[in-house]
Amino acid sequence: MSNIHELDFLKEKIEDLKKEGVYRKLPVLEGGNDAEVILNGKKVINLSSNNYLGFANHPRLKKGAIEAVEKYGAGAGAVRTIVGNMSIHEELEKLLAEFKREEAVFIYQSGFNCNIGTIQAITEKGDLIISDELNHASIIDGTRLSKADKAIFRHSDMDHLEQILKENRDKYNNVLIITDGVFSMDGDIAKLPEIVELAEKYEALTYVDDAHGSGVLGESGRGTVDHFGLHGRVDFSIGTLSKAIGVVGGYVAGSKVMYEWLSHRARPVLFSTTLPPAAAGAIIEAIKMLMETTEYTDRLWDNANYFKEKLGKLGFNTGNSETPITPVIIGDEAKTMEFSRKLLEKGVFVSGIVFPTVPRGTGRVRCMVTAAHTKEQLDRAVDIFEQVGKEMNILK
Ligand code: PMP
Repeated sequence: MSNIHELDFLKEKIEDLKKEGVYRKLPVLEGGNDAEVILNGKKVINLSSNNYLGFANHPRLKKGAIEAVEKYGAGAGAVRTIVGNMSIHEELEKLLAEFKREEAVFIYQSGFNCNIGTIQAITEKGDLIISDELNHASIIDGTRLSKADKAIFRHSDMDHLEQILKENRDKYNNVLIITDGVFSMDGDIAKLPEIVELAEKYEALTYVDDAHGSGVLGESGRGTVDHFGLHGRVDFSIGTLSKAIGVVGGYVAGSKVMYEWLSHRARPVLFSTTLPPAAAGAIIEAIKMLMETTEYTDRLWDNANYFKEKLGKLGFNTGNSETPITPVIIGDEAKTMEFSRKLLEKGVFVSGIVFPTVPRGTGRVRCMVTAAHTKEQLDRAVDIFEQVGKEMNILK
């Protein structure tokens, strides 16, 4: 008989992962997250990180972190609502609000926490949440935690969204439309102007998760709302501080009323300690750099366009990305993981992404080019893609 404490029920599931060819060990970096990294003891080109601007390892961010530690210590010591709210957290929120051109910004410990905390706090029974089918897992979980009813619209399908609004608007108190700003697995941008128009027509609220648009799209990386010139017309604008900004944390930008309410009801903030001072100090420097120069965002786009064009010319299927996210779609799950393994053997680290992160049969390696890559590194990576692509008959 199996012993429950040996976790046999989990061992069986792990065996299934191995049979499907999607089992993996967590990769270990020996050192910082850079354009090239030492991964499991070997130097490889890193095309997997969300460190879009190369800020994770930037000297100015490191200095900001060290100075914050010296002044405020290693940890906040309590949840914000008790005694963990330091002046550096308030400084960060004010700076982010200025950067985002919004009245107020409320910070969380991560983008994930921001979604699960905010969605739950701003909706209740009698409301309806309408969510794009490809929205991020943290939106799905935030929606599950809400007592509102839920409806899903087909990915970026505005007719479907309007149909749901038309059929349901009168049945609910508030209706909240949620979309990713940039879809993380395909790199396409939400049809935000149309979504906002529909929201205005049907008196619905709008909520954009700009995890992959922050620091990437808009003037100096101000995000998707800025990219489309929609300031003042999106109610809740979410960003992460872990990707382009290079540190950790998440935030929602919006009105002062939003801020006041969340500071009373956002559960991840009420019941979990806030960002450590080091993170806040580093983020402040990152945002200041974005406000001072477009050097990093310009280099990011230049590198991304260069790499995407080269892969496309070779004949890889890079999907419909409109952003630096560059998927190379392989299809079959096991073949995708094999492609990723072979790239790594030859010196390129790009993780395979398969079901359940993307639909079955649409496995891909997702290349994340950053401002920190040199053209030489990108050329070398393209050569390796070509070699492996030919070896595996992905390229003719
Ligand atoms: N939203 C989206 C669209 C994301 O891609 C991610 C990160 N994978 C998150 C939220 C979560 O952000 P964080 O890593 O800061 O928790």
